[in-house]
Amino acid sequence: MSPPSPIEAHPNLSDSAPVALSYELFPPRSPAAAETLWTTIRELETTAPDYVSVTYGASGSNRNTAVELINRLLLETTLRPLAHLTCVGNTPQELAGIIAELLDIGVRGILALRGDLPKDGGRHSDGALRYAQDLIELIRRVEQRRSALLCAGKIAVGVAAYPSRHPESPSEEHDVEVLLAKQRSGADFAITQVFFETEQYASLLTRARRAGVTIPIIPGVMPLTSLRRVTRLGELAGVEPAPALVERLAAADSDLERLHIGVDATVDLANAALDAGAPGIHLYTFNEHQSALEVLDKLALPRHNRPVTRRDTAARPQLAS
Ligand code: FAD
Repeated sequence: MSPPSPIEAHPNLSDSAPVALSYELFPPRSPAAAETLWTTIRELETTAPDYVSVTYGASGSNRNTAVELINRLLLETTLRPLAHLTCVGNTPQELAGIIAELLDIGVRGILALRGDLPKDGGRHSDGALRYAQDLIELIRRVEQRRSALLCAGKIAVGVAAYPSRHPESPSEEHDVEVLLAKQRSGADFAITQVFFETEQYASLLTRARRAGVTIPIIPGVMPLTSLRRVTRLGELAGVEPAPALVERLAAADSDLERLHIGVDATVDLANAALDAGAPGIHLYTFNEHQSALEVLDKLALPRHNRPVTRRDTAARPQLAS
């Protein structure tokens, strides 16, 4: 048997990689919402996430607030933004302009999405980008034109992946084929839609790897701490939460009990995903920090040792164990 090569034997390479941590935020819709969001941002910053993603309203409705938030994150915080971008409602020329603007302000990661279609289904206009795959290719073209600015480096392009069938897709197999196509077009990683059954992430991972998808697939988990949020999620993402979770939330007597239920369910999902080999955890925060931080406290993720500011745990109510 030959001895291990110096590269294989290097101590840094024999360690398992730290688990990535990220949060999703959305641009505020009012000054009051902006104030809450910035409290959340400051709380989340103390956990030293690897990046925070900022959503983009399909149709570009919140383009200015999204870019403004990303700019402030870059200028005023230690956080690295991942900018969501959608095909729906923007011409390729407009999208190329937004991509260039994002790169110019310092963004180095974009989540390329088709976006949700308008309620009436919308009409696909001539020349518009139809799929997320088309947007990835556009991002790569703009990146190429700015390669000197990027020191000939690459920006990270992420895409959506679906543990349960996308509402418009004929099958889960088709979803995996689409994910493979997005990888071939230049996607570097994927973040999943929310899911509520512990085995769903592992099943997606198995199907994707069998089909040839090699990029990291990061599970997106959302603490569902109110029935209002459950309803909203159904409307937005077409994902039905587990009936048992809905029943438990409906039977709960207080906000604290609902918080406890939502956090525990999220921790179970995240742990199952980590057991299946998830390289990171992406927390959908709804711009609130309390449930995200409670999840994090209970997860004890094996993370890297980036310096963090200590957060004031006494300032928030503790959950009963
Ligand atoms: P695509 O990958 O383009 O897929 C859309 C549909 O077309 C699917 O049914 C797919 O099966 C089908 N399809 C794709 N390619 C092909 C092909 N080549 N041939 C045939 N069929 C094809 N929405 C927003 O509006 N703003 C956001 O900020 C946002 N953030 C999100 C973040 C995450 C992590 C996730 C998971 C979703 C997010 N969404 C967001 C929702 C997303 O836009 C919707 O789920 C949308 O319906 C599909 O987007 P997609 O990028 O997966 O599209």
